[in-house]
Amino acid sequence: MTEAVADAVEFTFDWYGSFLDDLRDAGYRFRTYDQPVEDGDVLLRHDVDWSPRNALEMARMEADRGVTATYFFLVTSPLYNPHHRPVRLLVRELEELGHDVGLHFSTHQHFAGEPTDDELVDRVRDEQTALAQVCEDPANAVSFHRPPEWVFRESYEGFTSTYERRFFEEIDYHGDSNQRWRGDHPLAGGRAAKMQVLVHPGLWGDEDASFVERLREHTNSRLDRTARFLDEQFVEKQYNIDEYCEHVRVDS
Ligand SMILES: [Zn+2]
Repeated sequence: MTEAVADAVEFTFDWYGSFLDDLRDAGYRFRTYDQPVEDGDVLLRHDVDWSPRNALEMARMEADRGVTATYFFLVTSPLYNPHHRPVRLLVRELEELGHDVGLHFSTHQHFAGEPTDDELVDRVRDEQTALAQVCEDPANAVSFHRPPEWVFRESYEGFTSTYERRFFEEIDYHGDSNQRWRGDHPLAGGRAAKMQVLVHPGLWGDEDASFVERLREHTNSRLDRTARFLDEQFVEKQYNIDEYCEHVRVDS
């Protein structure tokens, strides 16, 4: 285990790079959700809750190391839109780097309680269709956003869930949700024979910051971007999307 990984987790890109190096040096193969998971395999999953830009940063770090991951995007978020040109270009870049792109699905947008399987599959299919418009080769796998209890260990007809028993219970599962790795190092119990690792790009940055600080950073960045968009479109009446893409891509 490398120094950085043996130490406490810092939510920095540097620490994340050392973590990737450690997994790669340990000989793990990085798999996708449409392959059987065998000993020595890691499923590296990214749920993009609010920062496509950080997702791209991680995607480049992974590609530099020959690592592949699956990036899951929301199509119902008020925080980013995969059909907005800068994000659309970014999604294509992730695919060109060799990563998979799939749907991050929020049940909370559609259902107060547990739906029937048919109702769920229909809504998932609708959103997969929307995401597929911006992907070259969308993954069939779906990850649930803030998953309710009823999705754990379940399998569904028509799509692969990252919380199916074979990805969630029959292998080690390490998620960084709410930065919980600060008190629960993902490799503290040693390296498992096979595992799924969930990393939320929005929780990471150049400098370490707490969960609440990270949320505040993104809130401020979002407010700045919204103000700029409104000014440019409606006050300055500039509709040059390429120019807008240039500066959105550095902080989306
Ligand atoms: Zn999520």
